Amino acid sequence: MFDYENGPVKFIHGGRYPHCHTVFIDDGPRALIDAASQEDVLLSLHRERPIETLIVSHGHEDHIMHNHLFPEADFWVHEIDAPVFSDVDRLIDSYTPESADERSKWRDALINVCHYEVREVDRRLADGDVLQFGETTCRVIHTPGHTPGHCCFHFPDQRLVFMADLDLVKAGPYYGDVGSSIEDTISSLEYLAALDVDTYLTAHGKGVYEGDPETIKRYMGVIFEREEMLLEFLEEGPKTLEEITRKGIIYGPPKIIMGFWDLALSEKYMMSKHLRRLQDQGNVILEGEHFHLK
Ligand SMILES: [Zn+2]
Ligand SMILES: [Zn+2]
Repeated sequence: MFDYENGPVKFIHGGRYPHCHTVFIDDGPRALIDAASQEDVLLSLHRERPIETLIVSHGHEDHIMHNHLFPEADFWVHEIDAPVFSDVDRLIDSYTPESADERSKWRDALINVCHYEVREVDRRLADGDVLQFGETTCRVIHTPGHTPGHCCFHFPDQRLVFMADLDLVKAGPYYGDVGSSIEDTISSLEYLAALDVDTYLTAHGKGVYEGDPETIKRYMGVIFEREEMLLEFLEEGPKTLEEITRKGIIYGPPKIIMGFWDLALSEKYMMSKHLRRLQDQGNVILEGEHFHLK
């Protein structure tokens, strides 16, 4: 039933987007972090002994799929990402949709595919909070960058950390939302790389990794590789944001996932953040609509 177990901390693989992997804490009151994995497994755990707490690592559509199956459970999320659970439009706003059509596609997907529902937040998490489940201690690490309220969960006694969407996948980190930040992603990853743990768990991809900081550094390195490729492209001459987006440095040719997630828009917003960063560093200048090297 479990893809990884370390005492009371257990791990359930979730399959593909818009699902994710789940951490199950089986000590004292039962708890789930990111209940978007396998419905049958989560429900059978709940039948054995109720799930009393649902924690969401951050306010994204692919981490909420089965929350609605546990209406009685307490709902905990970081204070900064909490507002997206009070109104579906707040969540849609965070994705940078560009048109009414885009918004309505997201609204439909959130409600009908991802089972979004308005949910009262019972506890607003903050960095350093110590969550106690029976004998099991979990420390909240606020790791902004992917979303502004993204959190990781450190289990010091089990020597493991759940890194959620700092997910160590080959493609590299995502920072395409309005509130995403490249600088924060880098600081969060540096913090995680300095943690003395044996195991990294992530919400997507392989899910279970040996706790080797080099793995985090390689993942973080993708950010700098993207930036390097962007600079090489600008060496050819001034480019507009549209041209840079079409180049597909991050995601390749345009693709729409599940009929609602337009990767070309993610490409555009992530490239905008790189361009902003290069401008701040004084390496790139914007003249009219064209970005060029200094
Ligand atoms: Zn996410
Ligand atoms: Zn995710």
